[in-house]
Amino acid sequence: MTTGVVKDRRFMDHDMGAYHVESPHRIEVLNRMLEEDPPIAYLPIEPRPATDEEVGWVHEKGYIDLVRSTAGKTVPLDMDATAGPKTFATALLAAGGFLKSLDLVMDGTVRNAFALVRPPGHHAEASQALGFCFFNNVAIGAEHLVRNHGLRRVLVVDWDLHHGNGTEHAFYARRDVMYFSTHQVPLYPGTGAARDFGAGDGLGFNLNVPLLAGKGDADYLHIFEKILGPVAAQFEPEFILVSAGFDIAAGDPLGGMAVTPAGFGLLTASLMAMAERTAAGRLALVLEGGYDLRALRDSVREVLKTLAKRDSPRATLATSAGDSPEALRVELEDPLRTFRRKWDIPAA
Ligand SMILES: [Zn+2]
Repeated sequence: MTTGVVKDRRFMDHDMGAYHVESPHRIEVLNRMLEEDPPIAYLPIEPRPATDEEVGWVHEKGYIDLVRSTAGKTVPLDMDATAGPKTFATALLAAGGFLKSLDLVMDGTVRNAFALVRPPGHHAEASQALGFCFFNNVAIGAEHLVRNHGLRRVLVVDWDLHHGNGTEHAFYARRDVMYFSTHQVPLYPGTGAARDFGAGDGLGFNLNVPLLAGKGDADYLHIFEKILGPVAAQFEPEFILVSAGFDIAAGDPLGGMAVTPAGFGLLTASLMAMAERTAAGRLALVLEGGYDLRALRDSVREVLKTLAKRDSPRATLATSAGDSPEALRVELEDPLRTFRRKWDIPAA
């Protein structure tokens, strides 16, 4: 079984202007890498537009109609989200492409998948475009797995630099979709406190790990292996979705993190091992942020190489693997105190 990649030039059709960091060039460099020097043999997945019904699982009808009404025009919907002539069509294609990749993982055509789409989605709220996002691709995907594939537990891991406020809100009171986010603070959009732990039925199923700038491969891997790993083992997800933002990469113009391409490979390997334990390996990533084009390209390349490895690679750093740097240990005290109200997380 192979890895599926959603790839299409039409994801360049959404354009917020020559100087906007969330630019069509992001897709251009990824497509060129896949065409000129593909890191793996992959199954190309041609996207399809999401339907109104599918988008409507997460977004209000009036909002969908508002975005539809921007077709052929240029309309600022938010300070950080301007719809252009083809934004509506491109956003539908991004969500639908991700849904198609999930279907192919579910029916066993591919082992795992990566949807290289834009615009990104995790800031989009039920009735509001926000932070470069129009429709919440990962949330629509999680709904698809629950509604159409009958899954009872889906884990959404969001390693983007920013907190996925839209995804958190979509599932805040639900226990069938767990949301786990690492994000830099203080930073846009200001949500994502550790104390925001879910509500009602969903209390304990929304996990936020706010981080000060400067974290690198070892920090992220520590969080994935020592915190997310034990929680996932108890939650027992049947599918793991990833809001894969590469704005935590070293050199990103919006971020202050320092993850290397090799580090993204390790995070991917860690999630593959979690997916093997309870989800029959089912893992699908969707592109969120990532604005340094070289870091984006090199990191996506490393993620794809990892996804294609036959045996789930062990996620370990060569040296000082489990060491928790002191700064990180202090920052994790608050999230851990919250998470342990619900989950058994051994002292690292
Ligand atoms: Zn981001």
